[in-house]
Amino acid sequence: MTDYDPQQFHDDLVSHGLIVPVGVQGVFGRGAVFEDVLERFNGLVTRLSRDDGAQTLTFPPVINRQILEKVHYMDSFPHLCGTVSSFFGRDSQARELSERINTGKPWHDMLAPTEVTLNPAACYPLYPTISGTLPPGGKLVTMLHWVFRHEPSPEPTRMQSFRVREFVRVGTPDQVVEWRDMWLQRGLTLLQSLGLPASSEVASDPFFGRTGKMMAISQKEQRLKFEVVVPVISAENPTACCSFNFHQEHFGSTFDIRTADGQTANSACLGFGLERIVMALFKTHGFDVDSWPGEVRARLWP
Ligand code: ZN
Repeated sequence: MTDYDPQQFHDDLVSHGLIVPVGVQGVFGRGAVFEDVLERFNGLVTRLSRDDGAQTLTFPPVINRQILEKVHYMDSFPHLCGTVSSFFGRDSQARELSERINTGKPWHDMLAPTEVTLNPAACYPLYPTISGTLPPGGKLVTMLHWVFRHEPSPEPTRMQSFRVREFVRVGTPDQVVEWRDMWLQRGLTLLQSLGLPASSEVASDPFFGRTGKMMAISQKEQRLKFEVVVPVISAENPTACCSFNFHQEHFGSTFDIRTADGQTANSACLGFGLERIVMALFKTHGFDVDSWPGEVRARLWP
């Protein structure tokens, strides 16, 4: 399958029962085979990193709203956020709310923000929990999180809600950069070992607006973000399946995380976009997992 047609790829995923449309772009159900491949890939990542000594944590898909405020998320990505609103009114207002909804009138102005927002980045929930002084070796944590980005799109690899297998390294600049470089090679090798035509490139985040364009240029110049990309819906614009981010002191200073010798900690993270990797596998090897190449099957179903 070397022809690239986002709509056709979407329709093929649906007709093979791999994804189930729900009527909103970028949101869909996942069939059993899709989930099996996703879990197998995640298991492969776990096996690969078994001896790294990472702590495993899981946070829910909603985070404390203060995290978004503290990291200045809205300065850079207001277009991607998803806040959670609820109803705080009394009986008469509740009746008006029902009335408005049942008669097709606008009703969202009757809700107010809660203390939580949807989580826009797999590693965000971690940082406020590790304020203070790190052990001498720093910290390594792995998580598997649902992430929300408000990016409705008809093409299947651009989702509003998806899972990321994340690793976060916090420590001195040397510890963090050495770890990032090790994983950049390891992640690339991992995807290539599954027969995927993966390559790595310097990347930037989708910052909002005109200031955002300049931030993206600066991010690229400083080589703070790398992605491992695989062609899934386009040959010219391959899909980012794994992203590596060096945050320098950003989270260390925001959440007062210090190294053992009292310096502000540096951090880096990497995330495998699990649904995207599954889709890259289907695009590359076809929709029938039984006919995938033997060496790929051996890696995923050992
Ligand atoms: Zn991250």
